[in-house]
Amino acid sequence: MYNNLDKQILKKIKEYKNIVIARHVGPDPDAIASQIALRDIIRFNYEDKNVYAVGIGVSKFKFLGTMDKIDDIKKEESLLIILDVPEFNRVDGASKDEYAYTIKIDHHPCDHPECDIDLIDESACSTCQIISSIVFDNNIMIDKASAEKLFTGIVSDSDRFLLSYTTPLTFNIASKLLNDYNLDLSVIYNNLYSRPLSERKFESFIINNLTITENGFGYIKLTNEDYKKYDVDANTASNMVNDLNHIKELRCWAFSSYDEKSKMFRINIRSRDIVINDVAQLHNGGGHKFASGARLSTQEEVDALFKALDERCKESK
Ligand code: AMP
Repeated sequence: MYNNLDKQILKKIKEYKNIVIARHVGPDPDAIASQIALRDIIRFNYEDKNVYAVGIGVSKFKFLGTMDKIDDIKKEESLLIILDVPEFNRVDGASKDEYAYTIKIDHHPCDHPECDIDLIDESACSTCQIISSIVFDNNIMIDKASAEKLFTGIVSDSDRFLLSYTTPLTFNIASKLLNDYNLDLSVIYNNLYSRPLSERKFESFIINNLTITENGFGYIKLTNEDYKKYDVDANTASNMVNDLNHIKELRCWAFSSYDEKSKMFRINIRSRDIVINDVAQLHNGGGHKFASGARLSTQEEVDALFKALDERCKESK
């Protein structure tokens, strides 16, 4: 399916004794699930290899597994695989030059080569879908826990099969994972979607305070006071941006969440049918056609991005 790129990747995995797997900063379930699943699949098939998942762990997604501390290995003789991230500037915990060979597996658009091998499938709903395709196409043995992670990443990144990236192949793969590994859906959904009441109240606050322009652009600028009032953190808002899908009055919407730790504004942008990633790219961000993000340092930059998104909505009326 991947023009032999999958075979080349498997050959490299076989070749290297030490393998480090990284993903993007501010990880979502697909990033962590693909990372942990790939690590455990390699360990399952090659007991003699040292395989590490690197990056800052997120307590909320601990159910997917934990990150590793790299032993004293020679990175210059090791393989680095980056997942779910188009470019090295957003990779958490690994840099390109340190490693002997680099591989990227991703579903984000990217117009230039980034690694020695780049397997990019923009038609896949998630990186977990791509890993699953490689697994099934090449009859690779995997354990039930890895299958569960792959399924979790697919469900999460396709927003429960709602987003337009969901294809018949997505359903085929999900069905095969469910069937072949006898997965328990209630456990998976409970891990992914159970949340405290405070978060639901925060979501109501967002909906009640969203500004909607005459062009169908909705936005909210969240402050530290808002997080404190609802006992949530800046990441919570980011995870809620998909929940505004299917509101008729909105064609495009964006959250700005100020992160006290990094002193940056994290922007989450979604759109029902208007292409927005080119706008995000012009404002220190990027992403998919209908799901993008950016990190900005000042309120003025946030205002400029929101103005550009409103303009895009106006042009597309
Ligand atoms: P998020 O709203 O954080 O889920 O991000 C949506 C998409 O936008 C992700 O798939 C990311 O690839 C992309 N994205 C988010 N933040 C940035 C950024 N600062 N630079 C480039 N792409 C980003």
